[in-house]
Amino acid sequence: MEYSCTAYELKCNECGKRFGNRPLSGCPDCLAPLEVVYDLDSARGEFTRESIAAGPANIWRYARLLPIPEGFQPDLPVGFTPLVRARNLGKRIGAVNLYVKNDAVCFPTLSFKDRVVSVALANAQKFGFTTVGCSSTGNLANSVAAQAARLGIKACILVPADLEPAKILNTLVYGARLIRVDGNYDHVNRLCTLIADEYNWGLVNVNLRPYYAEGSKTVGFEIAEQLGWRLPDNVVVPMAGGSLIRKIRKAFRELVYLGLVEDKPVKFFGAQATGCSPISVAVKNGADFIEPQRPNTIARSLAIGNPADGPAAAKMIRGDGGWAEDVSDVEIVSGIQELAETEGIFTETAGGVTTAVTARLYAHGRIRPDETTVVCITGNGLKTTDALAGHYPASRAIRPRLADFDAYLKELDGAVPELELALAGGAHAL
Ligand SMILES: *Cc1c(COP(=O)(O)O)cnc(C)c1O
Ligand SMILES: [Zn+2]
Repeated sequence: MEYSCTAYELKCNECGKRFGNRPLSGCPDCLAPLEVVYDLDSARGEFTRESIAAGPANIWRYARLLPIPEGFQPDLPVGFTPLVRARNLGKRIGAVNLYVKNDAVCFPTLSFKDRVVSVALANAQKFGFTTVGCSSTGNLANSVAAQAARLGIKACILVPADLEPAKILNTLVYGARLIRVDGNYDHVNRLCTLIADEYNWGLVNVNLRPYYAEGSKTVGFEIAEQLGWRLPDNVVVPMAGGSLIRKIRKAFRELVYLGLVEDKPVKFFGAQATGCSPISVAVKNGADFIEPQRPNTIARSLAIGNPADGPAAAKMIRGDGGWAEDVSDVEIVSGIQELAETEGIFTETAGGVTTAVTARLYAHGRIRPDETTVVCITGNGLKTTDALAGHYPASRAIRPRLADFDAYLKELDGAVPELELALAGGAHAL
C-alpha cells in the first residue's frame, strides 16, 4: 500500500519561524516547542471520509495528515482501538452519554505511546539515525524498544530508577539497552537532550519530538470517526508532558477545516495526579506559566514535573472553557477498580487518574449528564499491578469437594458486610 502525505515542515509555536524538516526539539531563538504544520488546503478532496474508510484499520488510514516521509511504507497495524459506550460507569457517576477510548489495548505495547513512536521512528529512519531512544516514564520505553526491534534499529532507553518492574521488563524483553537514572523524569530528560547532541541519536521525545507528538492526533481522528464523524462535547485526557490533549484538539480542528465534521465547541478536561499536577494547578490558578513540581505519585507514567507542553496545554484548556483536576493516589486506585468493575477494562494508574477525575467533573457539575463525553484510557493495568498490591489478598485454597465449596461459599457470604464496607471505603473516596 502506498501512502502519500501532505507537504509538511516544522514551525516555531512562538515566533513562527519555519525550519523545514530536520531533527530539532525546540526553536533555537525562543526555545519554544516546534509544531509540524501542513499545507492543509492541498489535502482538500484527498483527505475525505471515503478515502479514510478505504484505508487500513489502523492509524495509517490518516497518513495524509501525519508527517510520514516520502516513500516510507508503514506496515505495523497500530491504533484504531475501540471506542466503547460506558453505560455502567456512566450510571455510577451520573453520566448518560459516556464513552471510553480504550488505548489500554493499543498494538503493539498496550498504550497510546505506540501511536507516537511509529510516527517518530518513520522520521528517525529518514534522517538516517542508526540508534534511537527516549527518556521515558515507562510506556514510551516499552514502545520504542518493541518497534525498534521490529525495524532492526538499535535502541537505548533512559528511565527514572524507580520505574515499575513490569515496565522495565517490558523494555528489556525486546533486547533494548535500558539505563536507569538516579533521579526523576525531568533529570532523565535533561540528560537525554545532551545525549542527542553528543551521540547523534534519534531520541523520539527529544530531537524527534515534533514528529512524535503528531502521532497523538490519531486519537482525535479516531474518536471523531468512531462517533460517526461527529465531535464530542467533552474529552477527558490524562496529562504528562501535555502533548496528547493538545493534539486531540489539533486533530478536531483539522477535520473541521477540511469539512469532515461539523464545527462545534469541544471542551477539553485535563487529568493529573495531585502528586504531580503542574498543569492542573496552572489551569486552576489561571496562570500562563508552569510552576515545576517534584513528582510524588503512583501514577508514574504521568510524573513529569516540568512538562514541555504544559503552558500551551493550560492555555488551550481554559481557552475552550474546559478545566483540569487532580486526584490523590487513593482515588487513583479507586478509579482503576471502578473502571474494571463497571466496564471490564483494566487500566494502569494513568487510567485511574482519568476515571477518578471524570467522576469528579460530573460530581462538581463541570460536565452535564447528557453531554457526549469521551474518556481517554491510555495504558494497560497489567503494567502497574503493584499499585493494587494488598488490595486482593490471595484466598485460601479448598479441597476439590462440593461440601468444601458449600462451606466456603457460606463463609464468604457471611463475610459480606465486612467486604461491602471495605469496598465502599475504597471505591467512593472521591
Ligand atoms: C505518556 C502518557 C500520557 C500523557 O502523555 P503526554 O502527551 O505527555 O501528556 C498519558 N497516559 C499514559 C499512559 C502515558 O504513558
Ligand atoms: Zn521561535
